[in-house]
Amino acid sequence: MHRFLSTDRLFKRTARQAGACLGLVAGLCASAWAGPHEHGVVHMTLAIEGPIVQLALRAPQESLLGYERAPREGTEKQQADKLIEQLRVAESVIQWNAQAQCKASSASVSAPGLQGKTQAGGHVDIEAQYRFECAQVAQLRSAQVSLFELSRRISRVQVQVAGPQGQSQSTLRRNRREFQIGK
Ligand SMILES: [Zn+2]
Repeated sequence: MHRFLSTDRLFKRTARQAGACLGLVAGLCASAWAGPHEHGVVHMTLAIEGPIVQLALRAPQESLLGYERAPREGTEKQQADKLIEQLRVAESVIQWNAQAQCKASSASVSAPGLQGKTQAGGHVDIEAQYRFECAQVAQLRSAQVSLFELSRRISRVQVQVAGPQGQSQSTLRRNRREFQIGK
């Protein structure tokens, strides 16, 4: 299962760092993948270890729904429910190159702002975590961030990847939604 581990020390180190962060669940290793809460900007962290890919994302609630408070009954509530449902479908967030044969095995979404909880300054994030299993992980080359489709308010997605080929970062925009893995 961990065929990279014995041969690639860099991978061991980066995967352990990223995996440890993702393992903290709710906290999501805030220091490692922090960036300021900036409206329009979503942060994604990916950790690739063996056939498993873990993805964590953090988005200002404003950038997904247009407000950072509990939704009002009616249209706002319906739209918020729909958004959470969409976020629970991994394919509406990210699509891997088909050759890698990655399938989502779990997804979880945390949106405290929808219950009226906010952070200091009145801001609040929506966070989500996904786990994928890739039958042909050696073929994993690229991914397309489909999250942009969920909200026009997202202008940028900052992606950090830790995997067998080390760490990399990409900045994605509405007109550039794909990033390479391991380059
Ligand atoms: Zn905010």
